[in-house]
Amino acid sequence: MRERLCPVCQVALKPQVHLGVTIDVCPACAGVWFDADELTRLHQLDDAILPRIDRLYQPEVVAYDPPWERLCPVCREPLRPYNYLYTSNIVLDTCDNCGGVWVDHGELEKMHRVLQDARAMDIPPEAKAHVALAEIEAESKQVQARAEFWRGLFDFLRARPRLW
Ligand SMILES: [Zn+2]
Ligand SMILES: [Zn+2]
Repeated sequence: MRERLCPVCQVALKPQVHLGVTIDVCPACAGVWFDADELTRLHQLDDAILPRIDRLYQPEVVAYDPPWERLCPVCREPLRPYNYLYTSNIVLDTCDNCGGVWVDHGELEKMHRVLQDARAMDIPPEAKAHVALAEIEAESKQVQARAEFWRGLFDFLRARPRLW
């Protein structure tokens, strides 16, 4: 496996295991790389883990020239900045190729606060729409599964050899 490099400092990321999930932490800037779904998985296992990770790894003061373009540690493709939860003003970097996410040090703590606020009161309408969409999708899958079940049952009954 190729070495994973920090998109900011270009040094090798160090694998760190939390709750059975291996994340990649930069020993210099303390930014964290999450492979696709790792962020969601960790948050589902323990919704207070993000600020803990943020506090656990502290950046060292190193002089570097930040690159004009951040590259995915896995695919080496340029990362795309995006606004976490649409309107949080927390800018994360994602890889459209592998779905991983780069989080600068300090951002996990902010994400945690935004998530708590969103739960407490005002989820941005776009995020609400997103959640609603996900629910509709799950619902239609259930309907589909039910239809499939009945179809399967009828096929079974029709295929049964007659005993008379
Ligand atoms: Zn770094
Ligand atoms: Zn990638």
